[in-house]
Amino acid sequence: MQVVVLGAGIIGVSTAWHLLQRGHEVTIVDRQPDAALETSFANAAQISVSYCEPWANRDAPLKALKWMFSPTAPLLFRPQMDLAQWRWGLQFLGQCNDTAFERNVAQIVALGAYSHAALKDVVADTGIEYNRLECGIAHYYSEQQSFDGAAEAAALMQKFGVKRHILTREELLKVEPALNAYADRIVGGTFTPSDESGDAKVFTQQLAALCAQRGAQMLFDHSVERIETSGGAATAVLVRNLTSGQMRSLKADAYVVACGSYTTPLMKSVGVSVPIYPGKGYSATMRVLDPAKAPQVSMIDDSMKIAMSRLGDHIRVAGTIELGGFDTALDTPLAKKRCDMLVRRIEEVFPGMADTRTPEEGGDPQYWTGLRPATPTNIPMIGRTKIGKLWINAGHGTLGWTHGAGSGKALAELMNGEVPAMDFGFTRQTPVARRSNAGSPAAIAPKPSRA
Ligand SMILES: Cc1cc2nc3c(=O)[nH]c(=O)nc-3n(C[C@H](O)[C@H](O)[C@H](O)COP(=O)(O)OP(=O)(O)OC[C@H]3O[C@@H](n4cnc5c(N)ncnc54)[C@H](O)[C@@H]3O)c2cc1C
Repeated sequence: MQVVVLGAGIIGVSTAWHLLQRGHEVTIVDRQPDAALETSFANAAQISVSYCEPWANRDAPLKALKWMFSPTAPLLFRPQMDLAQWRWGLQFLGQCNDTAFERNVAQIVALGAYSHAALKDVVADTGIEYNRLECGIAHYYSEQQSFDGAAEAAALMQKFGVKRHILTREELLKVEPALNAYADRIVGGTFTPSDESGDAKVFTQQLAALCAQRGAQMLFDHSVERIETSGGAATAVLVRNLTSGQMRSLKADAYVVACGSYTTPLMKSVGVSVPIYPGKGYSATMRVLDPAKAPQVSMIDDSMKIAMSRLGDHIRVAGTIELGGFDTALDTPLAKKRCDMLVRRIEEVFPGMADTRTPEEGGDPQYWTGLRPATPTNIPMIGRTKIGKLWINAGHGTLGWTHGAGSGKALAELMNGEVPAMDFGFTRQTPVARRSNAGSPAAIAPKPSRA
């Protein structure tokens, strides 16, 4: 089967890889000059199977209201004159209860476990190196009340097979001695030894290069202009060469949309509505000055809701989510405050470890922003759409790196007529559709498996 994959982030590249593994011919299209130059570029680097709770929980509405006027708040809703934003917001509110939360966690954990195994297989098969650290993730708390809630969260995750250990401050310091300088402000923590970290951009770019070696056609610097349809099925994708301006029509047996947050407008243009909205986040990557003071274990800072990961001789700190449209500016006062907060926090927790000077002070922190393709549930959309031959792999929100290898594999399996070995509610996927050929619109199930 010939497949055109739209989007060369972690999700598109991983999908392409697993399709190639199954003997399909693949073309990958991306408007950037290489893979992973948008949201998969500089995320928090965590393969976070065991810390995967969605933002939508019973406390989220009140917290979001409280945070609305704080420029450094973890979650910031910036109201726009945009129906899609308000619709998404209402759907999000609908998920803010215990029943929905548990249902969503169950699916996210299933995909996480499957994806972790898939990632390990890809690494074993390819030997890709990407500053991987298999040292686990530690979540440290500075407030007793929040730490008291950690046990409840760990017990809930245990129900789904996630092992999250509750640690005293002393135990936490044994797990990660680099926290010593901040120890007097830590009340305790949790630790998930099976989690890991690594550079999503390096991994994705190397996997893309291997896809090319295996015969995939790479159309970088090409923007997707239009998906053409006829009789309820996709018939071609119109792409534009951004260097020459030349248009080209790509015809295939199947098309996969893996365009992150931009999946929504593309799908809308063919009448498919998807609840994916951009959630802007930031990161800062700094040079490590004193490796002895730098953590190996990847970290979650509970007070600021940010994550920190060691990437070779650099440290990256990332986080916060801003719901305010497709704005990727880094030079606004709000963006500057959020980036500053990240860097200041590194200096507070690990003093003297990294070069935290601002550019004005002669430092060179690499600031970055990316748009998480967020669904109200934080569950991605993987599967068939109501348009024949058109598939989707998008909406991975806060966990696209964690779920990348597994999402790519799962979609490739579905398209190949296989049944993935996990309990996950695929988009418009039924046993009938699973057995059928990828291209046939007749195989589309009448109802989606979830809203
Ligand atoms: C601050 C931050 C921290 C994060 N930390 C983590 C973490 O620690 N762990 C984790 O698991 N996840 C994390 N994430 C989430 C993760 O980075 C994303 O879920 C993931 O990168 C999404 O991948 P994607 O392939 O769907 O999207 P993208 O990487 O954005 O890829 C989509 C691709 O589609 C292309 N595209 C879009 N529209 C078009 C068009 N019209 N024509 C041509 N090409 C197009 C883009 O150029 C892009 O390359 C974080 C995200 C942020 C923002």
